[in-house]
Amino acid sequence: MRIVLLGPPGAGKGTQAKDVSEKLSVPHISSGDIFRGEMNAGTELGKKLKEFVNAGQLVPDDLTTEIVVGRLSRDDCASGYLLDGFPRTLAQAESLDRELGAKGQKLRVALNLDIAAEKIADRMAGRRMCRQCGASYHLVTLRPKAEGVCDRCGGELYQRDDDKPETVKQRLDVYFRSTAPLVQYYQAKGILKQVNADGTPEEVRQRVFAALNV
Ligand code: ADP
Ligand code: ZN
Repeated sequence: MRIVLLGPPGAGKGTQAKDVSEKLSVPHISSGDIFRGEMNAGTELGKKLKEFVNAGQLVPDDLTTEIVVGRLSRDDCASGYLLDGFPRTLAQAESLDRELGAKGQKLRVALNLDIAAEKIADRMAGRRMCRQCGASYHLVTLRPKAEGVCDRCGGELYQRDDDKPETVKQRLDVYFRSTAPLVQYYQAKGILKQVNADGTPEEVRQRVFAALNV
């Protein structure tokens, strides 16, 4: 079961991905989480990534593909995975297809979390994330049980630098220019499923599970 999750920043990909990966017992591979792991660890790679991420820019395709596709060749991905945040450009999608083709593998479905652009800014302004496990929360729509503390692991919640309003606008521009075309790309391949992402996390989760028949 190899799944790609698409949708603009703030559509709820990370939130839904955690639930789907638990339900299907496949690893949740998030390019953003991988990059934040490097950034928080302060590695040389992390410093380089930070320049792009905190400016709301995409990390260059060759670097991104090397890191994420490398991750997919580990043992835990052998029987499937849920990709979140990758591919984000046509070049990345083509690289992924080449890699899969070389292994005789295919994507089962590309699920697009569909949400109007006007709703996104509020979602991102209220978003808080766990430093330890990467789980997402929202100050209004998905509150943690205890303020500032992750329900899943007890980690500290923080606001990502790139969720600040100045950077959000830039990320949306990048999304519409570079990532939105992937919806047509996967539609043409006949594996696209659309899910209305305007709703509570629980409502959207039910739509996602229904679309995946799980
Ligand atoms: P969101 O889905 O909320 O936009 P992510 O956590 O997926 O956030 O990504 C955060 C940032 O990491 C992006 O804005 C971008 O700078 C970088 N990034 C993540 N995935 C990719 C990718 N596939 N290609 C290029 N840059 C990426
Ligand atoms: Zn956590």
